[in-house]
Amino acid sequence: MINPCTACSAMCCKTYTITVTSFDIHRASIASKKDPEEFAILHPVRLLTYDPDTVLDFENARSAILGIKSHPCYFIKENLCTIYKSAPLSCRRYPHTINNSVNTRFCPLTSQLLFRIRKPDLEKKIFTTELDQYKEIVKKWNKKQGKKEDCLAYLLEATKTLLQ
Ligand code: SF4
Ligand code: SF4
Repeated sequence: MINPCTACSAMCCKTYTITVTSFDIHRASIASKKDPEEFAILHPVRLLTYDPDTVLDFENARSAILGIKSHPCYFIKENLCTIYKSAPLSCRRYPHTINNSVNTRFCPLTSQLLFRIRKPDLEKKIFTTELDQYKEIVKKWNKKQGKKEDCLAYLLEATKTLLQ
C-alpha cells in the first residue's frame, strides 16, 4: 500500500514537541552516531497533556519530560526522518496512538483517508511493553530525585542495564 506520508511535508515532525523514552534515546544515538546530549532534551512540563508516569522530578528544577529537540525535530532532513527504522516507538506508530485512535490533525486529506484503512507500522504491545519499562525507571529516579543535570545519564544507564 502507498505510504500515506509521501504527499506530506512532515508537519507532525515539525510541529509537535517530541517526547520519548530513554530506550528511544539509546536507539537514536546508535543510529545517528550522535551523543544523546546532542539531541535529547528535558522539556519543561507545561499545560500539555502528558502521561504523569513519565514526568521526571528534580531536586533543583521544575519537572520535565524526556524528549528530542523539537520544532522541527532534530532528526528531520528534507522532510524525511533520518533515523526512521530506529525512530522513537511513538513516531513509528504515529498517527496511531497508544489508545488505538488515529490523530491525523496535521495530515493532508488523502493521508487521513489512507491511515484509516492502514494498520499501524508498530504493534501496540511492543510500544506499551517498552513504555512500561521506562515508567519503572522514571519511578526509581523520582524516588531519589537527583539533580536535573544528572538525569539523562541515570536514565540511559538504567536502560542499558535492562538491555543487557
Ligand atoms: S524522530 Fe523522525 S519520525 Fe520522529 S519526529 Fe523526528 S523526524 Fe519525525
Ligand atoms: S503522519 Fe500525517 S502529518 Fe505526519 S508525515 Fe504522515 S501525513 Fe504528514
